[in-house]
Amino acid sequence: MTDGAAVAHDVHELADVVVVGSGAGGAVVARELAARGRDVALVEEGGFFTGKDFTGNPRAMIDLLYRSRGLTGALGRPTIPIPLGRCVGGTTTINSGTCYRAPDYVLDEWAERYGVRDAREPDLRPYFERVEQELNVHPVPDETYGRNSSLFERGAAALGYAGARIPRNERGCLGTGVCAFGCPQDAKQAMHVSYVPRALAAGARLFTRCRVDKILLSAGKAIGVVGRFVDTEGRETGHELRVLARHVVVACGALLTPALLERSRVPDPSGLRGRNLHIHPATRVGALFDEEVRGWEEVPQAYNVHHFTREGIFIQGQFVPPAMEAPVLPGVGTAHKEIMARYTRLGSFGALISDESAGRVRAGRGRAPRVTYQLGAADAKKLARAVGLTAEIFFAARAREVYSGVHSRPVLGRLRDDGLPSAGHGAHGRGRAAGRHRLRRPGPWHARPLGRRREPLPVVLQGESADHHHGARHAARRAAGGGVVGRAPRSARRSV
Ligand SMILES: Cc1cc2nc3c(=O)[nH]c(=O)nc-3n(C[C@H](O)[C@H](O)[C@H](O)COP(=O)(O)OP(=O)(O)OC[C@H]3O[C@@H](n4cnc5c(N)ncnc54)[C@H](O)[C@@H]3O)c2cc1C
Ligand code: SF4
Repeated sequence: MTDGAAVAHDVHELADVVVVGSGAGGAVVARELAARGRDVALVEEGGFFTGKDFTGNPRAMIDLLYRSRGLTGALGRPTIPIPLGRCVGGTTTINSGTCYRAPDYVLDEWAERYGVRDAREPDLRPYFERVEQELNVHPVPDETYGRNSSLFERGAAALGYAGARIPRNERGCLGTGVCAFGCPQDAKQAMHVSYVPRALAAGARLFTRCRVDKILLSAGKAIGVVGRFVDTEGRETGHELRVLARHVVVACGALLTPALLERSRVPDPSGLRGRNLHIHPATRVGALFDEEVRGWEEVPQAYNVHHFTREGIFIQGQFVPPAMEAPVLPGVGTAHKEIMARYTRLGSFGALISDESAGRVRAGRGRAPRVTYQLGAADAKKLARAVGLTAEIFFAARAREVYSGVHSRPVLGRLRDDGLPSAGHGAHGRGRAAGRHRLRRPGPWHARPLGRRREPLPVVLQGESADHHHGARHAARRAAGGGVVGRAPRSARRSV
């Protein structure tokens, strides 16, 4: 392995294949090709870190492992954070370790709608099985399955919603709950502890802290890459890496790959480069219980409700440390402090949707890509229903209050002492009649707002004036049951 921060001269290399990016895509390609005897050079912009470097401290780990200190996202209304890893292992180093197979019906749709051949479930099954074996994928065991999940499971079971323990890639997970900041135990089988070391063992050469700026072309064909080494602070050292190769694989992720291709003027005969960006918009829903939950004493994603996947709605565990949970909980000042003081009794689940909206990636002015994404009306409606369903399940699990992420109705009611729901209230504890409701900025996996200002999401929870009197459990039911209408903002209406 060559650490770019320690390189004191330019480096020129030849290889069969140069792979840019060491995340889920690049690491696997590098290992599979190296194992078949190809001479592979793997180039990664970030450094190589392992469990001994991971302290679990959110701020320090975000600075160490995330691109742009975690402030990457898509511009639109709302603006959506899309965190990315920048380290060996890419985003797998900071992800939750959840490992789903692509569902049968999705693969069938690819085949029927887009003509993707040989990629239906029976074709892919042996590959799924092989990867699952390599990464030790298995459902979350009892030892790391905690109250956040078991309470939610209880609620889902009471409502008859199908759910399951989540399959994860881990060996020796202790349920410390800090997967998003790098696994201190190296238990999570992210690429930096699995496919990258296996690629190196098979003979691949790894160059870390090297930012590829350009794909070299000859007669429109890629023949190599040029990158700049950077120091531990990400500043260029003045030395370059130049790799000439028969094949170039660009695996920089969905946001950075199109930008690098565009900056390098790689021909785009389809005209689709950077288009059709899908991000499964998501938001987190919190809940207050009478009993202790201690959600940090388990893996962050341990249980899912997959009852609504055909509708494009998926609900799964998403417990995060206080520093990340605080911005999405309601209230300010003392009201917010009071909620945070009950952190031991909080549950948290994520509501995700499969989006119909599509964004676009272009090379930005600097190095960061310009990503735009406008959540359309149908997706806004779907997201609101996903929030409603999540709230409904929490209430069925006997949550006292649910924190919806809906700006004008952040607290969805409470159970009274007699077990019946009382009315919900607004951000500052006031009841609120109908109106234009806002969801806090949704974001994939670990949603969190980028700033203090909340963007309006064009969702109207229909008939909510009545909810004030009928109780929030009814509001949640109505949202879950389809009593939600979405309306695109003017800009989106033009494009949807
Ligand atoms: C907080 C979080 C939790 C998640 N949890 C899950 C989960 O539990 N399960 C799941 O399936 N998915 C999860 N995901 C998503 C998943 O991790 C990503 O979809 C996946 O890692 C994408 O793989 P990739 O190879 O395309 O990109 P990445 O894994 O992002 O890897 C791209 C790599 O390329 C490098 N790179 C980019 N540009 C350059 C350049 N110019 N030169 C050199 N190197 C470059 C980057 O530094 C990075 O290391 C999560 C995502 C996040 C943010
Ligand atoms: S929950 Fe498990 S996989 Fe996640 S950081 Fe803790 S030990 Fe690692």
